[in-house]
Amino acid sequence: MKVGIFGGSFNPPHMGHLNSLQTVAKKAGLDQVRLVPTSQNPLKVPTEGPTPQQRLEMTKLAVMDWGPQFVVDDQEVVRAGKSYTIDTIQSLRKTIPAEDLYLIIGMDQFDELEQWKDVESLLKETNLIVTSRPGYDFPADVESLPKYLQKLVEEFDFNFIELKTGRDVQFIQLKDVEISATELRKWIRIGKSVEKYIPLSVETYIKTHKLYQHLGAKIGDYQKFTDFCAQVLFAKKGIMVKGFDLRAMSAPSEFALVASGTSTRHATALAENVIRSVKEEYNVHPLSHEGMDEGRWIAIDYGQLIIHIFYDFVRQEYSLENLWKEAVDLKLVDQSLKKD
Ligand code: ATP
Repeated sequence: MKVGIFGGSFNPPHMGHLNSLQTVAKKAGLDQVRLVPTSQNPLKVPTEGPTPQQRLEMTKLAVMDWGPQFVVDDQEVVRAGKSYTIDTIQSLRKTIPAEDLYLIIGMDQFDELEQWKDVESLLKETNLIVTSRPGYDFPADVESLPKYLQKLVEEFDFNFIELKTGRDVQFIQLKDVEISATELRKWIRIGKSVEKYIPLSVETYIKTHKLYQHLGAKIGDYQKFTDFCAQVLFAKKGIMVKGFDLRAMSAPSEFALVASGTSTRHATALAENVIRSVKEEYNVHPLSHEGMDEGRWIAIDYGQLIIHIFYDFVRQEYSLENLWKEAVDLKLVDQSLKKD
């Protein structure tokens, strides 16, 4: 019996996932596909949203009418804490031989697989199915494979790789569905229709449980909140911390905060400190964030406040503030200096 494992945050489950599952099950001839919602992906910083239990419920609803070939596996949610795929695979290995296991991942995850825990053991314990994702290309030859994988290649045959571990990697082309859960969470928040991308049962669940709402109720006065975040940046030696009221302009948020770090590491540390302090004070995670790994231009989205933290030179390159000429400068000051 060939068993596929499809892990994900499913935050929420969407047509990108569902299209992938159906196509892979068919093209790879899988007898069973197990959808495994993560508890916490160790490579993703937590964002505001549903509990793992709610994501599990939504995943169940998404495949509710699909028949017994598709199974929702709750083991990562039950285990709680950070989810490592190797633990899930090892638990399945107790009853399923390695040659019958197929871990399904998208090209976006294939690119970052090296950061996964025990990736070499993983490639002994399961085969890999890598699916296309808009914006990513399949590797054309051994040289374009990630380094850790190159040394494991026994034979490379275009869309199929035989590994020295005895397992194999196959690449499966999907019909492009250009959507991500991140994008859909934004759409729901602003009331844009998502019916093309989310099964009705899941959409109803989202509405009933009021998921992916604005943060207004938790944050309250956004101008005060902007100042709170600015004080964290001042305290951690952020450079040129400036806040803007954008309400008179058409902008995606009402407030913006900009600061620079002296290095990419400093920029990342500034972002981490803001996220931690906001969680402590307001009990709120950001809705999303980008650029934390590189630390060149980090954007943290708190709904009506977006915080941009740059590595100094990158800020000059983009001169974002020039776009906000009509905005009101909040003239933020470091409160710790005021007291002195
Ligand atoms: P997020 O935007 O929150 O990071 P996501 O939409 O990428 O989420 P995940 O739940 O993290 O979804 O992904 C689970 C799996 O589904 C991954 O292997 C990912 O590559 C794949 N996947 C997600 N969206 C698509 C899509 N539009 N087309 C093909 N595969 C997808």
